[in-house]
Amino acid sequence: MREFNVVVLGAGGVGKSALTVRFTQDVFLENYDPTIEEEYRRLVKVDGITSQLEVLDTAGAEQFTALNEVYIKSGRGFVLVFSLTQEASLREVDNLRQQIYRIKGGSTTVPIVVVGTKSDLVNEREVQLTTISNLSQRWNLPFFETSAKKNWHVSDVFEDLVRQMRNR
Ligand code: GDP
Ligand code: MG
Repeated sequence: MREFNVVVLGAGGVGKSALTVRFTQDVFLENYDPTIEEEYRRLVKVDGITSQLEVLDTAGAEQFTALNEVYIKSGRGFVLVFSLTQEASLREVDNLRQQIYRIKGGSTTVPIVVVGTKSDLVNEREVQLTTISNLSQRWNLPFFETSAKKNWHVSDVFEDLVRQMRNR
C-alpha cells in the first residue's frame, strides 16, 4: 500500500486543526490548542484503491519561514488553508504557494489543494466565490469550500489530493 505525506498549512486560526481532526478522527473540536503540531494517520479509499495518509497539522507562526521550509521539504502534497470569514488569510495561501514552488522547483509536479474553511458561518463570510474562483484559475489549483463543523466537503479535499499524488 502506498503512503503519502500531506502537510496542512495556512495562517493561524483559519481552521487547519479542525479540518485535519474532522478528516482523521471524524469529530469537530471547538477549541483546539493553537500551538499543537501533530501528525495524524488515516487510510483512504479513492477510486477503489486504498492508501495511507500521514497528515501533518502545522502550528507555526507565519513569520517563521525557515520552519515552513522544513515542512515543505517533508511533504508530498499540500492543503493550503484560508478562512472564508477572513479575506486577509488568502494572502498567506499565496505566499505558501510561491514558497512551495520555489522549494520543490516547478509548478506542475506538486500536488496542492486550496481550501476555504468555515463555510457554515454564512453571515461572517468575507470571501466571495468569484474572488476565489478567479484566484483558483490564475493559480491553476483546485479549490474547495469546507466546513469542519458540519463536515461539508472535507473528504473531497483529501480525495482530490490523493488523486494528484498518485498521478504525479
Ligand atoms: P488553526 O489555528 O488553523 O488550527 O485553527 P483551528 O482549527 O484551531 O480553528 C480556529 C477556530 O475556528 C476554532 O475556534 C474553531 O472551532 C473554529 N473553526 C474551525 N473550523 C470551523 C468550521 O468549519 N466552522 C466553524 N463555525 N468554526 C470553525
Ligand atoms: Mg491548529
